[in-house]
Parts: sequence; structure tokens; C-alpha cells
Amino acid sequence: MPDTVIQPQIPTTPVTDEILKKLHAIVGDKGLVIDEQDKKPFVTDWRGSRSGSASVVVRPASVEETSQVVKLCHEHGIAIVPQAGNTGLMGGATPWPTHRGIVLSVGRMNKVLSVDPVGYSMTVEAGCILQTLQETAAAHDRFFPLSLGAQGSCQIGGNLSTNAGGVQVLRYGNARNLALGLEVVLPNGDIWNGLRALKKDNTGYDLKHLFMGAEGTLGVITKAVLKLWPAAKDGATAWLAIRDPQAAIEILSEAHSASEDNVESCELMSREATDMVLRHIPGVQDPLKADTPWYLLMQWNSSRPRSEGAEGMAEKMEQFLGEQMEAGRVLDAVIAQNESQSRNMWKIREGVAEAGRAEGPGLSYDISVSISKIPEFIDKGIKAALEILPTLRPHPLGHIGDGNVHFGFGAPKGMDRPTLQQYAPAVTRAVNDLITSMAGSISAEHGIGIEKLDELQHYRSKIELDTMRTIKRALDPKNIMNPGKVLRLS
Ligand SMILES: Cc1cc2nc3c(=O)[nH]c(=O)nc-3n(C[C@H](O)[C@H](O)[C@H](O)COP(=O)(O)OP(=O)(O)OC[C@H]3O[C@@H](n4cnc5c(N)ncnc54)[C@H](O)[C@@H]3O)c2cc1C
Repeated sequence: MPDTVIQPQIPTTPVTDEILKKLHAIVGDKGLVIDEQDKKPFVTDWRGSRSGSASVVVRPASVEETSQVVKLCHEHGIAIVPQAGNTGLMGGATPWPTHRGIVLSVGRMNKVLSVDPVGYSMTVEAGCILQTLQETAAAHDRFFPLSLGAQGSCQIGGNLSTNAGGVQVLRYGNARNLALGLEVVLPNGDIWNGLRALKKDNTGYDLKHLFMGAEGTLGVITKAVLKLWPAAKDGATAWLAIRDPQAAIEILSEAHSASEDNVESCELMSREATDMVLRHIPGVQDPLKADTPWYLLMQWNSSRPRSEGAEGMAEKMEQFLGEQMEAGRVLDAVIAQNESQSRNMWKIREGVAEAGRAEGPGLSYDISVSISKIPEFIDKGIKAALEILPTLRPHPLGHIGDGNVHFGFGAPKGMDRPTLQQYAPAVTRAVNDLITSMAGSISAEHGIGIEKLDELQHYRSKIELDTMRTIKRALDPKNIMNPGKVLRLS
């Protein structure tokens, strides 16, 4: 996204040689990145469109080290940018250019501490890579549902801090719903141990929810107890050419009972988004030759193994798709016949962010509305954006079961980033005004970070913003924890 955000005031106390020595005494050689070149990946965002600075990147190996580092920073008023996999799309993990403090990377805290298959939970450190956690659960015949395109590099601490969504929210909820307990280092360095594996715990305010979605502004998540589910034993993946987005939500609505409540994912794709992936991601095949504007990727999974002679997920899906064709909602469809065909369909969906980055300059809005309003939003939103810049190239898609549309546009052919930036504020305002008029959200799953700082300020009520500020000031009176992100303090 173009950068039109003015930096708020942040603490700029530098890391002196003396403090550097103290940091070294806490984390050792392995825990410090000082060389400018080596720091680059930690101060640049995933898109490569935003970069900042940091005196030093600190990589503690334990909660005790994290606590000591944060205590030292608190004592001296040094700002901290917590970071996990650095795949966030809102600039939350990227320091501001005037940042003189540290980036605190949790990546060395990457151990799975215990798995309890009987109790359906596991306890993990914040730097565990999401995909490793999925694989760990699978090795115990269990399932950890959080799943997103960046899962090979994002880390659970970042997932929880952004309250990440992804492609399975429809059935399991977003990251907030997958955590039973947390351990957090507070902005003064104290360790809050909330690592409880309890499904029921009505003992006052549920503090863990403060830190999930806070994008590192209230503390550093160091460990989590995560929920697990039974592993899938029977599944079916299909790629459908569909009439339009209205058909998509009707298909999903009927799929719940047809699948016996086994719809795991339902992703809407436009032809343009699909083509963008086919252009840029090697080895991906178009599953259908149908040249229609809209597609649906549907996944049904059941934990019940397919029994001899009985109908499995694939047969149920086939029958359902036949009915949907007769109803005129599905124009053509293919059910994956093996794992590799299913992977190919999923690669198209998961490749969109990477393909968007390769495509060049663009605008992207991660919004949500109630599910039945998705078709109206897509229609009106495209019209509103094209009224401002008629040659924009819309490539919408979405996690439609969550009402979440990734409302993306490629820059007009031949237009460079600075020129596109001139149009961005007007398009952003038009899209976000529309979403607000439809009682939706301007950030469904990616958060606020830096990119939506002003949008949050504009669209949230004074009472909501003031309540958030009160919480921030109470926990972080020196404003050292990811300052200037999410919330303007004045
Ligand atoms: C290809 C691709 C696909 C994506 N798809 C999705 C998707 O489907 N759904 C979705 O929701 N997001 C998606 N994202 C965005 C991103 O992957 C998620 O936001 C992810 O949860 C970020 O995790 P991370 O480990 O990279 O966190 P980071 O980028 O390192 O950090 C994100 C935020 O959390 C804070 N933070 C990080 N670690 C901690 C910690 N331990 N304690 C406190 N604060 C911390 C940071 O300060 C920052 O504000 C995608 C990104 C890419 C590149």
C-alpha cells in the first residue's frame, strides 16, 4: 500500500554502547544482530515497500532473557518492536524510520514444549513456525487448523498478535479462538504466566484476549497453549466455475447440510486473481478451462474414516455439485482425484499474495461484511474505485464463509507506484466509506499496524479509541512497546 501515513511521535532514546554491553550480557553473541546488512531483513516488511531502522536486533532464547531485555529497555525508555516471522502485511513488525531502539525477534524461542493428544492441546514457544505446528499436530493424529499462505515462515507469536485468520476460520474461528492460554512479557518486563489449558475459566477479565490482536503494542507473547482438533480422515477438494458471488454464498449456505457440517474452507476467486497466480507462480495449473469471471474453491473434511461401501466426502460432494449445477449456480466443476490435484487447487489460492507482489504496484483492502452482503459490496466497491481511476484492474477474492473479501486492484498497465499513490487516498476513502455504511470492518484479519493507523482513527468512535488508549497507557505508560503502531495516542 502507498505510504501516506504521518509518523506519530515515538520514543527515540538510542541504544548506547553501555546498553549494548548489557544486552550482550543477557542474550550473548547469538542473540544480537548488529551488522547493518544482517539487520536489513528485520527492518524491511514482507512486501519490500516499507523499511525502518533499529540500533540492534535482539533475539532472546527464553522468556527469562526476554524479560531482562524488556526490563532494561523499560528502565531506559528504549522503544521495542516485537517481531516473529515478519510476514505481516500492515507494517506492524517494521520499525519506523526514526526508531532508535531495538527489534525484539522471538524466532529463537521455537520449541514445542508439550503435546497432549488426549486433552487436545499443545504448549509451544512463540517463535515456532506455523507449518511446524501443523506438522507436529499431525504427527500426533491431531489437527491444528490455522492455515494461511505464509505458514512456512510466519510464527505463532505473530499469528496470535495479529489474531490471524486464514482459510479455516469458517469452521474453527480465527487465531484468538485457537489459544487456551498465553505467557506474555509485559512492557515493564514482568512475566505474566497465563499458560492455562482450560476451556472454562471465568475468573475475572480474560487477559489473554488483550494481547491477541494487539500487534505487539501491549507486550511480547512468549508462549501459548493451543487447541487441537481430530485429524481429518476423509476429504474432498473441488474447484467450481460459478455464476457470480451471489451464487457463491448460496452454494456455501447449502453446503453445510449437504456435507453434514464438514465444510472446512470456501474461497471465492475472481478470474483476474486466478490469472495473476497462473502468470507468476511456477508449476500451477488452471483446474478448469472454463473462462468464467468467478470461481469457488471448496474443501470438505471429516474426521470419520470412509467406511467400505458407504458414501464418502467425494461422493457427497459430487451429488451436491450436480444439484447446484441444476440450480444454475455452478457452471462447471472438478473434484480433485488425488492429493496433487488438491494441492494444485490450494496453490492457486495460497499463491495470491506472492503473485500480487510479483505483479507490481497495487491497492489492497482486507475488509469484512456480513456474508449475505458480499455480492453487494463487491459490486458497489468496484464501481466506487473505478469511478476514481477507471483503468484500475480489480482482482477480488475472499474467505467468503467469514464475510472477508481481499479487495485488490492492480495498478493500471504502465502506471508506476508514485503515480498510483496519488489516487490511493481517494480510493481508500471510497472503499472504507462504503464498508462502514454497510456495517463492515476496514480490517478483517490483517490488523492495523502502520498502514491503517489513520483509517482506524477515522472510523472508530471516540469512546472506542479512548478505551483503547486507556488500556495502552495503563500497561505501557512509557509507550515503549511497538510505539506508533495501531493507535495514535493523541
Ligand atoms: C503470502 C501471505 C499470505 C498471508 N495470508 C494471510 C491470511 O490468509 N490471513 C491472515 O490473517 N494473514 C495473512 N497474512 C499476513 C501474515 O502472515 C499474518 O499477519 C501473520 O499472522 C503474521 O505472523 P508473523 O509471524 O509473520 O508476524 P510479524 O509480521 O512478525 O508480526 C506481526 C505483528 O505482530 C507483532 N508481533 C509479532 N510477534 C509478536 C510477539 N511474540 N508478541 C507480541 N507481538 C508480536 C509485531 O510487532 C507485528 O505488529 C499473509 C501474509 C503473506 C505474506
